[in-house]
Amino acid sequence: MASTGAGDAVAEQCVARIDRERLAATLGELIGLPSVNPFGDAPRDGQGEQRVAQYLNDRLERLGWGCEVVEYAAGRYNAIGRLAGGGGRSLMFAGHLDTVETTDYPEPFAGTVRDGRVYGRGACDMKAALACYLEVAEVLAEQAVSPPGEVFVAGVGDEEFRQEGAKALGASGPLVDGVIIGEPTELTICHATKGLAAYDLVVTGEATHGSVPQHGSNAILGAAALLTSFGDYQRLLAERSHPLLGPPTANVGVIEGGVRPNIVPARCEVQLSRRLLPGETAAGAREELVRSLARAGGGGQWSVGDAWWTVEPYELPAGHPLAGAIAGAAGCCGVDTEPRGFPASSDAAYFGSPVVLFGPGSLAQAHSLDEWVSVADLVTATEVYVRTVLAFG
Ligand SMILES: [Zn+2]
Repeated sequence: MASTGAGDAVAEQCVARIDRERLAATLGELIGLPSVNPFGDAPRDGQGEQRVAQYLNDRLERLGWGCEVVEYAAGRYNAIGRLAGGGGRSLMFAGHLDTVETTDYPEPFAGTVRDGRVYGRGACDMKAALACYLEVAEVLAEQAVSPPGEVFVAGVGDEEFRQEGAKALGASGPLVDGVIIGEPTELTICHATKGLAAYDLVVTGEATHGSVPQHGSNAILGAAALLTSFGDYQRLLAERSHPLLGPPTANVGVIEGGVRPNIVPARCEVQLSRRLLPGETAAGAREELVRSLARAGGGGQWSVGDAWWTVEPYELPAGHPLAGAIAGAAGCCGVDTEPRGFPASSDAAYFGSPVVLFGPGSLAQAHSLDEWVSVADLVTATEVYVRTVLAFG
């Protein structure tokens, strides 16, 4: 059976098969597979990304998809599933397998379904979308739909830190005509995401006895003098704006310096981050930051190193057919069809294929100590995904 549109009879039959109980139960099971990103530490034995990758693999394999779990780096995994289709455009549903940490989170892996919501770490960011992708696969199988183009589901590791899973997939995985990433966009269609660059500002002084500070040079006061200009820097950034993402922003995240109150400190380190707009680079943003700090004067000896953590920004090329397909699908479901920007960073720049972000849940709950997603959002996202599969190919 083939289909040609987001709103035709095949799409209606598939949408009618979406099973909200199965969808919520799938998400509960995914939450029950802890997959906290090790954030640069060596992955522990059986680190959870592998378990989640295997879960996706097993569910899709049962539905007749061609599947593979790939160890792209020691102890780190991606899962790729492929459903054969006609000769139309190929579409990939991509999502990250990892979550942020669970410190102070009560019962993070319970995956409880209560009052129309599913709770737990990863509930919206972004095991919700993984559950929706599996539900898409379920209804396509139940209706014996051969999609107009190949469909892939990709679960990738390490989104929350260095995006190594998406980079590995982009380097050696299937190139497709369009990728949907189901990050928690509150069911809005996002054509652009900000990037991230993190820098260390190091201020050096001269240590001496705290009773004769005039004989030394205080690195903490030097850092403080430099940071008095940070408001000016933020105002400078606010003067430019991307049509979907608004202005870039900057944050002072960590400050460390000194040894004891009776010693003039010789060193102070500040960790800064800058959200990048499409077209901006980490190197260019560093130069601008240095120029802005230099205008503050004072501060003694200081330097800003190259970015030690970067996530590239992304923007979908104008007029791409994926934009029309997903907007048509969203229109059939009564949700917002206007292109938006996603303010957080994501894997979008690394798949080597055009990307739209659209997913259930909200960044307001992501990374929080009470993460949840509504089952209604899960159902709507699945419906939009099903209709997009049928319309895009
Ligand atoms: Zn995410």
